[in-house]
Amino acid sequence: MSSHAAPIQRLVTELSKLPGIGNRTAQRLAFYILRSSDEDAMALADAIREVKERIGLCEICFNLAEGPRCRICEDERRDPALICVVEEPSDVIPIERMHEFRGRYHVLGGALSPIDGVDADDLRIAELFRRLAAPDCIVREVVLATNPTTTGEATALHIADGLRERAPEVAVTRLASGLPVGSDLEYADEVTLGRAFAGRRAV
Ligand SMILES: [Zn+2]
Repeated sequence: MSSHAAPIQRLVTELSKLPGIGNRTAQRLAFYILRSSDEDAMALADAIREVKERIGLCEICFNLAEGPRCRICEDERRDPALICVVEEPSDVIPIERMHEFRGRYHVLGGALSPIDGVDADDLRIAELFRRLAAPDCIVREVVLATNPTTTGEATALHIADGLRERAPEVAVTRLASGLPVGSDLEYADEVTLGRAFAGRRAV
């Protein structure tokens, strides 16, 4: 049984659901929040509420967006002929940080993993094919930037096969090796990622 008052225990329980936050850290954070000013604590609560209320997915690329389209899809200077396919919205961040990719994105919402019950229908693969089949589509190249993991590789192969069939005129490339195998794009540094992008190869 917890020795905390129920509202404190509730906060500890919610905080401990966050990734990398164990029970002890959750307690420390809860006590930190209790000690902080009403203003700071409410600002945190409001920020969480606001992000859930106002942020959705872009209707074109499924990146995070405030409103129907994300800032990248809205940006006329971004090359619409180049699409980079990633697993999660968080993968867009390291690629943007590299400042070398000037195209658009397509966020799949995960990777193929039959063991976990994730198959092609659970990802936004059909939406990618639809994007490429649009009559006004001018895409020249699709860069498959799924993670260098078993599931990421399987996803890249699946999409590459689909694209060869549906859009043979579009070049399909995969990031060069050099990214730490088995790790997530999210944790790659800019230099490594930049090299992987520059050295991308046809698949
Ligand atoms: Zn978008």
